[in-house]
Amino acid sequence: MEISFAGKRAIVTGAGKGIGRATALALARCGAEVVAVTRTRADLDSLLLECPSIKPVCVNLGDWGATEEALREAGGNVDLLVNNAAYATLQPFLEVTPDQFDISFNINVKAVLHVSQIVARGMKARGTGGSIVNISSQASQCALQDHTVYCATKGALDMLTKVMALELGPYQIRVNSVNPTVVMTKMGRLAWSDPGKAKTMTSRIPLGRFAGHTHVVLLIISYLYSAFGKLFRPLDFFHILLHYSLILKWITLFFLS
Ligand code: NDP
Repeated sequence: MEISFAGKRAIVTGAGKGIGRATALALARCGAEVVAVTRTRADLDSLLLECPSIKPVCVNLGDWGATEEALREAGGNVDLLVNNAAYATLQPFLEVTPDQFDISFNINVKAVLHVSQIVARGMKARGTGGSIVNISSQASQCALQDHTVYCATKGALDMLTKVMALELGPYQIRVNSVNPTVVMTKMGRLAWSDPGKAKTMTSRIPLGRFAGHTHVVLLIISYLYSAFGKLFRPLDFFHILLHYSLILKWITLFFLS
């Protein structure tokens, strides 16, 4: 079975590095017209070298005015949105500073709300529906040392996701979150490079290792595709089976490649 997003337009935030970059590339390979949003120009330049069809948008998502303008210039008619950009900082609870709290909530929660409003308004007006995936984290559910603010932002993001799903569902806009464990991106390395510290986490994961980019991207793609490919139907065993066999096939292809 081939996954095709041909004719669909997607926005991926934080597409310069890590999971967002891998998602943007995967969507483009599946035929979507991808708008990659991030704030470091050099990341967009290298992304375009890898995939010239991607449309770059360089903006700091913490700036609402600049974001609105940049997304307007990039054009509307968005079918798929991946809210991936995030900021992580490590501070023990007793040392949390107001600036780190504000920066974190501004990107991890407020910018998600803002970009989703812009995109969902367009989806509602066109009556076409769509799919939004918010990249949350296991940190929304699990207390992590020195992650007070990050955990709090992801907890807030999970609740934002639920309310978005509730209110946007009637317009056929699906909203889901993906909550990965550690992935060794720039952000992952910030907190988990020390082998001793990493062991405290991997020892609690049945597979005994962190996730790879591909595992997370597969889930994101599955949720996005479900909105159009109709992979998820309530109480439809065949389609649930199909969904999991598709993920298995992708994972197998990944490990064999
Ligand atoms: P990275 O730090 O590797 O990449 C984050 C991307 O977001 C970068 O391109 C970054 O740009 C961009 N970004 C950050 N702030 C802004 C901003 N204000 N405006 C525009 N772009 C911005 O992160 P990951 O790939 O690791 O994380 C992706 C998502 O996955 C995040 O939501 C994260 O919370 C989540 N996650 C990550 C895990 C991990 O272990 N890595 C585990 C669980 C969830 P720049 O570099 O220029 O700042």
